[in-house]
Amino acid sequence: MGSVRNATIERDCRNLRKPSKKVKQFDTNELKLLQQTMLYAAMNFERDHAGSLCVGLAAPQVGVNLRVIMVRNTNDPADQRWTFMFNPAYVESRDGFTIDHEGCLSLPDYYGKVVRPKESLFYYFTEKGKRVPQEGVILAREQYARILCHELDHLNGVLCSDNAVGEVEYDEAA
Ligand SMILES: [Zn+2]
Repeated sequence: MGSVRNATIERDCRNLRKPSKKVKQFDTNELKLLQQTMLYAAMNFERDHAGSLCVGLAAPQVGVNLRVIMVRNTNDPADQRWTFMFNPAYVESRDGFTIDHEGCLSLPDYYGKVVRPKESLFYYFTEKGKRVPQEGVILAREQYARILCHELDHLNGVLCSDNAVGEVEYDEAA
C-alpha cells in the first residue's frame, strides 16, 4: 500500500462506475484521511502535468465510493482554495444550458463536449456535518456550475464521456 502522499487518480472503472454512498458519520479520522488523499492526488497530478490546474475531484477517483467532492471556484482565478463538499445535493438548474469541452483526470487525454446547465442550485455539508448554506441553496454559475455537475456525476458512477455530444477530441500533445 502506498502512503497518502503518493495518492494518485484512480483509473479503475469498477470504482468509477459504482454509485457512491452518503456520508453518515461526520468528523471522523476516515474522512480526514480521505480528504488528505484527495488533496495529495490533486497535487501529484498537477506536479506530473505541468500547466494543468485540477479544478475538481470526487472520492471515487481515489477509489473511495463515498459522496465527497472537492472543487475550486474557477470563476475567481485568484482564489485557488479547495472546498470540500460532503453529500452535495443538486437541487435544480436554471437559465438554460451551455456546451463546452470537458476533460476528466480519470480519462487521460480525453476531451468531449458536454451540455451542462448554465446555473445550478445546490447545497452540501461540511466535514463537521454542517449544512451549507444553513437554509436555502447556493447558486453556482457558468464554469463553477459545470465543475459541480461533473463531480456530482462521479458520485453516481457517470463519466463526462457518457454525456459527450458531437465530435470527441483527444489531446495528442498531452
Ligand atoms: Zn472527472
